[in-house]
This record gives sequence, C-alpha cells and structure tokens, in this order.
Amino acid sequence: MLEYFLEGFTMFAVMTILIMLSRTVIRKVPVLAESRRFNLEEDRKRMEKSKYPPIIKQNQLIGLLMFPTLILFVTPYFTSFEALPWWRYITDILAVYLVYDFMYYLVHRFLFHGNKFFKRIHGLHHQARNPSHIDAQYVHPLETFMGLAMLWIAVIAVGFLIPGDFHVASMIVCFLVYSQINILNHADVQIQGFPYSIATWISRKHHNHHIDMSHGNYATIILFYDWMFGTFE
Ligand SMILES: [Zn+2]
Ligand SMILES: [Zn+2]
Repeated sequence: MLEYFLEGFTMFAVMTILIMLSRTVIRKVPVLAESRRFNLEEDRKRMEKSKYPPIIKQNQLIGLLMFPTLILFVTPYFTSFEALPWWRYITDILAVYLVYDFMYYLVHRFLFHGNKFFKRIHGLHHQARNPSHIDAQYVHPLETFMGLAMLWIAVIAVGFLIPGDFHVASMIVCFLVYSQINILNHADVQIQGFPYSIATWISRKHHNHHIDMSHGNYATIILFYDWMFGTFE
C-alpha cells in the first residue's frame, strides 16, 4: 500500500518539477522566450473575448480532476520501481500512445468531424483558425472529458496487457510528453533551426488541422494513423 502511494506521489512530484524546470529554460533561452511572449500576447487578446474565460475555467477544472487522479491513484496499480530491460521503457510508452491515438483518431475523425451533434461540440475548438497556446484549453468540456477518458482507458488497457508493470519513469515520460504535445500542438511556434524546428513542425501540423474542418492530421501524439489511413497533411 505504501509503495502504491509512493509511486503516485513520485510521478506527480517529478512531473511538476520537470514542468517548472522547462518553464525556467524557456524564459532563459532568447528564441524560446520570444515565442512564449508572442503566445502570451495572443492569449491575452483571446481572454479579452467574453467567450474564452468560462470555457478555459471549465476545462481547467476537468483537467485538474481527471489528470492528477489518473497519475496519483489509477496508474500506481500498474507501476513499480523495479528495473526493466531498456527496450521495455520505449515499447511501454509507445504502446500507450498507439492505443490512445487509435481511439482518439477514430473519435476525432468519425465522431467530432462526422457526427452532427459532436461536430457542433468540436466546432467550438475549431473556432480558432490559427490557434495560440491558450486554444489547447478552448475546448468543449465534454470533449476534454472524452479525451482524458481515452487516456485513462489506454493506460488501464495497456497496463493489463503488458507482462508485469510499467516502470514509474516510463509513465512520467509518457504523461509529460502527452501533456506538452497537447499544448505545443496549439502554441504558435515559428522558430527555425534544429532542435527548435521539431517544435515548429509539431505546431504546424496541428495548425494545418485548424485551417477549417475539412483538413486531416486527426491524431494527437503521433501521426502514425494519419499516415496509415491517408489523412496526413
Ligand atoms: Zn478537429
Ligand atoms: Zn486543436
């Protein structure tokens, strides 16, 4: 029981520290600081519109209820501190993303872009034609709930399927990349030159999806399914 709480607490604490550290790095590196300033300015303009603050607040509430609960109380059922062969760290993370992105791809493409009721729900997020940082949270609360529920399902399903447990470190990386890619997808990043061009590419491919509701790139984390099903742009 103690190990269960210790694992959950470790994942949550390390993630919080790493996110705080990355924010310090962003402030210290001039090109990143400039990109951050640009996005914060765009965010400020959006938050002046009366429609933004209530939606952002509702999403933060759902996020705060569902994400820490997953990390602190659900994931520890499937984790341990025991060392694994090196490849298991990679395949475990990939397995969670492949299961999550498969569900997300199908729901995004055929429900959010194909069903009349859900298209209206998802249309709120698509109001942002050229998203900035804050638009990651300008999402209908039902959509936020469904997105996080799919992450819960992916972690639980893969947790049951793999032999033994995930390593705590794998899940720290898995959740960190998940949360940061969701933000980076919407941040307006236009920095040239390696390694920043990776962030620019991630941002651009989701901005392509936002041009209007007829564009591809439906998956969130990896674009494997878009490539496989011919919707990669
Ligand atoms: Zn969409
Ligand atoms: Zn989006």
